[in-house]
Amino acid sequence: MNPTIPARHRTVAVDIGGIMVGGGHPIVVQSMTNTDTADVEATARQVAALARAGSELVRITVDRDEAAAAVPRIKERLLKMGITAPLIGDFHYIGHKLLATHPACAEALDKYRINPGNVGFKEKKDRQFSAIIEMALKYGKPVRIGANWGSLDQELLTKLMDENAKSPNPRDAREVTREAMVQSALLSAARAEEIGLPRNRIILSAKVSAVQDLIAVYGELARRSDYALHLGLTEAGMGTKGIVASSAALGVLLQQGIGDTIRISLTPEPGGDRTREVQVAQELLQTMGLRTFVPLVAACPGCGRTTSTTFQELAADIQSFIRDSMPEWKTRYPGVETLQVAVMGCIVNGPGESKHADIGISLPGTGEQPTAPVFIDGKKAATLRGPTLAADFKQMVVDYIERRFGRQLGKAAAAE
Ligand code: SF4
Repeated sequence: MNPTIPARHRTVAVDIGGIMVGGGHPIVVQSMTNTDTADVEATARQVAALARAGSELVRITVDRDEAAAAVPRIKERLLKMGITAPLIGDFHYIGHKLLATHPACAEALDKYRINPGNVGFKEKKDRQFSAIIEMALKYGKPVRIGANWGSLDQELLTKLMDENAKSPNPRDAREVTREAMVQSALLSAARAEEIGLPRNRIILSAKVSAVQDLIAVYGELARRSDYALHLGLTEAGMGTKGIVASSAALGVLLQQGIGDTIRISLTPEPGGDRTREVQVAQELLQTMGLRTFVPLVAACPGCGRTTSTTFQELAADIQSFIRDSMPEWKTRYPGVETLQVAVMGCIVNGPGESKHADIGISLPGTGEQPTAPVFIDGKKAATLRGPTLAADFKQMVVDYIERRFGRQLGKAAAAE
């Protein structure tokens, strides 16, 4: 264990369809579909794509009767495809009714997600919240109590704002709103426990869209409770903004040992790939040294010493080749996810960085000899040149993997 990795905040472990969340278990990656759940084929296809990309839990919206009726069929379809990732149902407003009138849906889901700000209002709120918890008890399911800045319990917020206004030292309205988020999650969890849902079937989240608010809210949740925590920056946004904001917020919390499962809520470009959010979540955890999923390629940024695009193309080619090969490699080469590859642009940092990787190549920069030394386990192993350079390096990566990780299968078999 890397000594700079912080100890995890102690939380109670929750079993979600066989995937353990919290209690010191590895931080779990999850994602959410954006298909109409009533469309069984489209939803099953997207869940399968997310699961194959590495999502260990997948959430789907259950917003109306047609969606609830589709859930068991989606589950069945997925099992036929060999996809066993647990499914989480996302309920708002009428979750209590949908779960009561669609028992097959209540049974097929592995967890229910409810938002305490959206379960009903006034006297209905307690009744409808209790009804969902009772369904979770009946079907033996865990529940995520997911407060959200955009749908915060308004009665609670108003009460705290009123109390604050009467206080001799009133706090900033933003601080009061953060406190309302924390209380909304904790009071709802306490209520669920009163109804009989054990602590090891409760996960909390309190998602907000601003980085500093998210860090403050989760810091408080972790300080005041030991419930397993789902982290995510809500409405993170599109493209690089969404990735940077989520990484900044979640990175700080993870570094404090806070967070048992994460989702990166990216808005895909029109027609974009939904699995991108899974890739970003994995890369965040892996680059922080918290989990390993797929071999990572270290590449220099390039500069005026690289006049051709060869090294950028090679770095991108190798990374996508590795990612595409992983489903097969994972079973054939146990441990291959720890492989480190380097693709460097010139002699300045190339040989040094390549020596630190398991296998690395230092491409020729402007004015250098048109040759590319390859380093394996810190030692120069070959010099590549000519038009087949990229293909030759790729082959060397494959050979290295076969040699180093393929043998382990042989050893394991021999030991049995
Ligand atoms: S390794 Fe060479 S090409 Fe890459 S950034 Fe450094 S100086 Fe530039």
